[in-house]
Amino acid sequence: MNSWCFREIQRQIEYKAAWEGIRVVYVRAANTSRTCSKCRSINKNLTYERAWTCPNCGARHDRDLNAALNIMSRYLEAAVVRPSDEGPPREAMVLRDAVS
Ligand SMILES: [Zn+2]
Repeated sequence: MNSWCFREIQRQIEYKAAWEGIRVVYVRAANTSRTCSKCRSINKNLTYERAWTCPNCGARHDRDLNAALNIMSRYLEAAVVRPSDEGPPREAMVLRDAVS
């Protein structure tokens, strides 16, 4: 899969999700690693640091974990919660900005 382009990965996810009746939710990927997952301020001074401290609230972040938390937050904001007797809605996430 490492040699696949992002669009092919998206197409495969959409295909497999549709096959299983799972809805795909797209979230905006911009600034997910630079936005503080605690206070939502954007640290525009980051370059290649793997860990950083938010200048606004002082929270310490691992860049990848922080990005994952922001992606989850954007997913939760974008997802429409549907009442169901079958438990939580079955959905998959795809980063919207990942299309090249
Ligand atoms: Zn912060």
